[in-house]
Amino acid sequence: MTIALRKEPLKSEPGETLDPQNWDEIRAQGHRMLDDMFDYIANIRERPVWSPIPDDVRGRFRDELPRQPSDLGAVYREFADHVVPYATGNVHPGFMGWVHGGGSAVGMLAEMLAAGLNANLGGRDHMPIEVERQIVAWTRSMFGFPEEASGIFVTGTSMANLLAVLVARTAALGPSVRQHGIGIEGALLTAYTSKAAHGCITRAMDIAGFGSDALRSIATDPCHRIDVAALRAQIAADREAGLKPFLVVASAGTVDIGAIDDLAALSALCREEKLWFHVDGAYGALGILSPVLAPRLAGIENADSIALDFHKWGQVPYDAGFLLVRDGKQHRDAFAAPAAYLRRETRGLAAGSSWPCDLGPDLSRGFRALKTWFTLKTFGTERLGAVIARTCALAGYLEARISAEPRLELLAPVQLNIVCFRYRAADANKVNGNIVVDVQESGIAAPSTTVLDGQLAIRAAIVNHRTDTVDIDALISAVLEFGAQRSKSGSVVNVEPSPPLAM
Ligand SMILES: *Cc1c(COP(=O)(O)O)cnc(C)c1O
Repeated sequence: MTIALRKEPLKSEPGETLDPQNWDEIRAQGHRMLDDMFDYIANIRERPVWSPIPDDVRGRFRDELPRQPSDLGAVYREFADHVVPYATGNVHPGFMGWVHGGGSAVGMLAEMLAAGLNANLGGRDHMPIEVERQIVAWTRSMFGFPEEASGIFVTGTSMANLLAVLVARTAALGPSVRQHGIGIEGALLTAYTSKAAHGCITRAMDIAGFGSDALRSIATDPCHRIDVAALRAQIAADREAGLKPFLVVASAGTVDIGAIDDLAALSALCREEKLWFHVDGAYGALGILSPVLAPRLAGIENADSIALDFHKWGQVPYDAGFLLVRDGKQHRDAFAAPAAYLRRETRGLAAGSSWPCDLGPDLSRGFRALKTWFTLKTFGTERLGAVIARTCALAGYLEARISAEPRLELLAPVQLNIVCFRYRAADANKVNGNIVVDVQESGIAAPSTTVLDGQLAIRAAIVNHRTDTVDIDALISAVLEFGAQRSKSGSVVNVEPSPPLAM
């Protein structure tokens, strides 16, 4: 067959494409950027953990839509001067707020490579898809899942939990739910999680069309683990009332204090009651990489699905959420469009399905797998597991320092890498709310808050691989100093605590 080509190919004028007119210039600029970012990470301790954004800096980003080009060097200077100094701070070893990963230089390089390749991982037959499949296989092996298990990268665990609820929904109601909606039968379905579960589970139930009332919030024991007897009783009561229990969401690492539900007991209960057993392992599931922590996750290997974030304990740069589903067919049943799926080619660029677009709502998707692949291969799972175990050892060190300090008190048992404590004072909630903001604004450390039984706690979640005992010591000194200042009468102001379950 002949292919008609244009006789006089249209030749682009300089500036008509978006490629640089001078590759040497952009190469030099690129090397400067790379060096600056290495310096940023290498010298991160010299910076404050976080700095409040000055009004004039914020104002610079209320600019008009740029119609004319600007010099790359000038644009980069704006980034360097006005964005870099006011980032979240989670690269810094003093960052202990919420549950944020620290990232790594390796992950940063991989992100650059992925952007250069500009792959779209919705589907088709190209090697980036095989890299994602490699991560699926590795994740399967981490958790002892069978060959037919499937997995997909998503933004984060909020999304992975939503996808899991949708897979469980299709498994309970059959694929016709995708045409007809949840209907009368779906309105009877009920799901179960503990009071300490992340708020995104409630949102997932809402978005999936069940409504948040269909999620039963089960009491926890003093260690914040779901009360399995109370769960069993609630399931029985709901069945008695004509409802149809279908899903249990366990937590492997609660966001407030790091509790791990009794996964073995829950897996047995789910098997007995024929319920979908999903584990929200956002940060805790990767504890499986540490021989010290893995036994605490016993039972996770029986889950029907696991949601986790490589961007938390895995130290992969944001974002890298992941969902693993034991039965790949049930996963595809929830998302694949059968017409498109069955018509796929066996040869050429459109071969090689099933594709990630059959496993979730996204069609165009970035190459999150690459930074995860580089991270897992470069460091190896033993070293990552050791980093994870070390954050727990540091939490133990912080716990010991608190116990030895009469001005401080522990507010929850330390089970993993999260420590909740407070400065003893009259009007303790207000004083401690002030202390946390003072410490954040000082740039010394960045803890967050949570509320435990009505008591506002200073919450230090140690996730970053760079955090060391000096950072724990700096946190303690800062809390004591601001605590002394704030507990002098008249020096507390009202501080709204952030929602306890936000991240
Ligand atoms: C962080 C977290 C989430 C939410 O994950 P994102 O990646 O922020 O969407 C859900 N559950 C738990 C237990 C978490 O720690």
